[in-house]
Amino acid sequence: MTETVPSWETTAEPRMLIDGKLVEAASGRRFDNVNPATEEVLGTVADADARDMSAAIGAARRAFDETTWSTDRALRKRGLEQLQIALEGEQELLRGELVAEVGTPLAITYGPQLDAPLEDGLRWPMEMIDRFEWERDLPVGTAFGMRSWRRVVKEAAGVVGAVIPWNFPFEVMLQKVGQALATGNTLIVKPAPDTPWNATRLGRLVAEQTDIPPGVVNVVTSSDHLVGEELTLDPRVDIISFTGSTATGRRIMEKGAPTLKRLFLELGGKSAHIVLDDADLAATVPGAAFVCVHAGQGCAMLTRLLVPRDRLHESVAMLTEAFGAMPYGDPTDAGNLQGPQISARQRERVLEYIERGVEEGARLVLGGGRPAHLPKGWYVEPTLLVDETASTWVSKEEIFGPVLVVSPFDDDDDAVRIANDTAYGLSGMVSSASEERALAVARRIRSGTVGVNGGIFYGADAPFGGYKASGYGRQNGIEGFEQYLETKTISGPAPADPSSPGGSFLSVGPA
Ligand code: NAD
Repeated sequence: MTETVPSWETTAEPRMLIDGKLVEAASGRRFDNVNPATEEVLGTVADADARDMSAAIGAARRAFDETTWSTDRALRKRGLEQLQIALEGEQELLRGELVAEVGTPLAITYGPQLDAPLEDGLRWPMEMIDRFEWERDLPVGTAFGMRSWRRVVKEAAGVVGAVIPWNFPFEVMLQKVGQALATGNTLIVKPAPDTPWNATRLGRLVAEQTDIPPGVVNVVTSSDHLVGEELTLDPRVDIISFTGSTATGRRIMEKGAPTLKRLFLELGGKSAHIVLDDADLAATVPGAAFVCVHAGQGCAMLTRLLVPRDRLHESVAMLTEAFGAMPYGDPTDAGNLQGPQISARQRERVLEYIERGVEEGARLVLGGGRPAHLPKGWYVEPTLLVDETASTWVSKEEIFGPVLVVSPFDDDDDAVRIANDTAYGLSGMVSSASEERALAVARRIRSGTVGVNGGIFYGADAPFGGYKASGYGRQNGIEGFEQYLETKTISGPAPADPSSPGGSFLSVGPA
């Protein structure tokens, strides 16, 4: 008898996880999961409507209110450990699946797309279960003449709606799941319609290989974004943890207002790399072509390069060479660093943005169109633009494509001004021969993360998020962990202090 080796294709999960069961949509409908590199349908997945979302929210609410999940730390730790082992058991299946549904280059699945988050996305919050200070005592206090002991207690916030984008879907999902579960919440994971299978796979593993009680984790897939909006409208949901575009973030705020939702919004970016005049240009500038990796579909990518005015010409020459050498195409080819955009719509959007930048005065140096040699798949050529004024559309708005905009600056103050002159504030980089000087400039950048001389901040222990229109709240780190918690202050009568006379002026005694 020949043994069939499981492949990601045969193990892809079309069903959702609701209340501990793997289910089809109430309507019985499914939608297509399409490979952006081939434009071919990979398969289908359940197409939820509001009924399914309501059932998932109800299950999460019940699991929070009626089980010991929120208070049983040992159970949470065991559940997360089992999930870690289960995911590691399917790591290679996940790899193939992510390359197919996200169009991500295979090369970056060995880093941020899969292996890096699998290393610490669950483990770090799991370790925090033992290390975190869940309760702390304040000194005995006296108010209204009464002495009281006082204790600050951290508790799970409740039901979390975790809304996931398509660009780094597994990474973002795992980081939200890890932190929300470690802190004792229950959740509904809502993946983007473009990348549903890595989430349904996680749902199946939760159901089949862990002791996580039914309803604690739910996974709802839908082709309709407004099914995700049910999470923001429903009073049974306490928190929305959202990663996605700034436009959707605004809408979530608006829709969440009537039920006073707690919101964590990780939104778009337009981050700048400042190369100061003492930096080694040849060692620094060509690396800016990194913006093409994963077709530029990363929120924290360094999409603007700011160089000293008298080094602009030289920098553009170096970049032209680096962009021309960018290996791109079939994401299953381990040598390629750039794959397709996620959808035809997204490709058109990127091309329109480039066009608009050029209309407003940016100069197109390289690329800017669809590659003739890749007729199938939603590819955009590696694109290099120079915007001398740093003021056109492409210098201000997130493009989410393989596009770099180079602009000149006059001095350090001018560089900081240009870097901060966007609505966003997600990330940045400063390069200089002097770390001290780079650090001084980095401190002036209004963004949630900044690298110095190539420094990389990523990790489950490092808070990640934005200033300004890049959102608020933090994914990861202790700051992220605490976002999933409520704070309760409890007090009771303390023994009388023999050295102080009198009792409470509020105490009511017999008349
Ligand atoms: P998107 O905002 O279109 O969608 C993100 C998710 O929100 C999807 O799951 C979508 O179905 C859901 N959604 C859409 N409308 C909704 C609504 N009204 N209510 C509730 N949910 C809704 O973003 P996208 O195109 O999937 O992702 C790309 C964007 O995400 C980029 O702007 C990128 O910068 C940003 N991003 C930010 C970070 C970060 O941490 N700051 C990380 C990754 C991506």
